[in-house]
Amino acid sequence: MKAEQREPEWDAIVVGGSAAGLSAALMLGRARRRVLVVDAGSPRNRFAAHMHGVLGQEGVSPTALVETGRREAAGYGVQFVDGTVRVAEDGVAGLRVTLESGETHACRALVVATGISDELPELPGLAERWGTGVLHCPYCHGWEVRDRHLGVLATSPASLHQVQMVRQWSERVTLFAARIGEVDPQVSARLRARGVEIVNAEVVEVLGDGDQVTGVRTADGAVVEVDAIFTMGTPHPHDVFVAGLGLDRAELPFGAGSFLTVDQMGKTSHDRVWAAGNVVNPMANVPMSIGAGAMAGSAVNGALVEADFAAAEAAQALEVRA
Ligand SMILES: Cc1cc2nc3c(=O)[nH]c(=O)nc-3n(C[C@H](O)[C@H](O)[C@H](O)COP(=O)(O)OP(=O)(O)OC[C@H]3O[C@@H](n4cnc5c(N)ncnc54)[C@H](O)[C@@H]3O)c2cc1C
Repeated sequence: MKAEQREPEWDAIVVGGSAAGLSAALMLGRARRRVLVVDAGSPRNRFAAHMHGVLGQEGVSPTALVETGRREAAGYGVQFVDGTVRVAEDGVAGLRVTLESGETHACRALVVATGISDELPELPGLAERWGTGVLHCPYCHGWEVRDRHLGVLATSPASLHQVQMVRQWSERVTLFAARIGEVDPQVSARLRARGVEIVNAEVVEVLGDGDQVTGVRTADGAVVEVDAIFTMGTPHPHDVFVAGLGLDRAELPFGAGSFLTVDQMGKTSHDRVWAAGNVVNPMANVPMSIGAGAMAGSAVNGALVEADFAAAEAAQALEVRA
């Protein structure tokens, strides 16, 4: 028998070992599957000291979540490799995954849980305060800055939705609108009706004290004092390594870009590939990613159970014929 035709070494390889990936791995480990997690170690929320809106883990650090998740999954036999997957491709007896290091592994099923990168507006003083004074989501960090003077730096039409959301956490909200051009008069009237101020001058710098924001400087030289800024980066899914598998994709709303499509169980258009978390849904927070990972993990096990029974039946039929 050729090496490639042997049973793959792993039932499942999970690429990405954070909220979604560790949750999938936990389900698969507990289902007595041979599971390898390959993780590059850069979860999206690593810039923030604490996570919020995460039931049972409220205020826990992103690092602690990953450490705990790894320990829990390892308790059921899940194994880990620290590294980056360069390519995943179809092999004769399953899927083959090759790391940047050149290491290769074969598996019966693949879970893609590699998250996204946020491409931030290029502005002096902004990127270095991402996750501290510059925030992406009021559900995650709004409570901590409630009632403060909050700025919303518009980056796309979706920012007009974001500014309405942010208003729920404070009565003092200023929209910096220059990057999306003139705001429709009806929309600005609606925002002003709830006390949202609109500044049309272009923001040229974010001002701050250490990792905290104190204000912004606009192109006309004025300084507008704010205590925190909400803004939306452009999401880039980490899915280049599966490009060769030809998985179906779709454009997401609000100009979020092209993402892999999955069904409710996290299955892609490939029979042996599932995906979960931000890599397929940039809006998913930590609990949603954990849930999607759990769903994908159990779906992978379900598919392998079916395959195991089909193989046993086929083997039995062969025996009877012989
Ligand atoms: C600043 C900030 C703060 C946030 N705060 C909160 C919060 O308070 N509460 C909340 O619920 N949500 C928060 N979020 C959202 C949260 O980060 C995401 O919901 C969550 O990280 C998604 O989990 P994931 O497992 O899909 O992806 P990630 O957590 O991004 O994990 C993906 C993992 O895959 C790895 N990876 C990527 N490519 C490869 C590859 N080719 N090979 C191997 N490994 C790879 C990465 O290194 C990473 O470890 C925050 C986001 C940001 C940007």
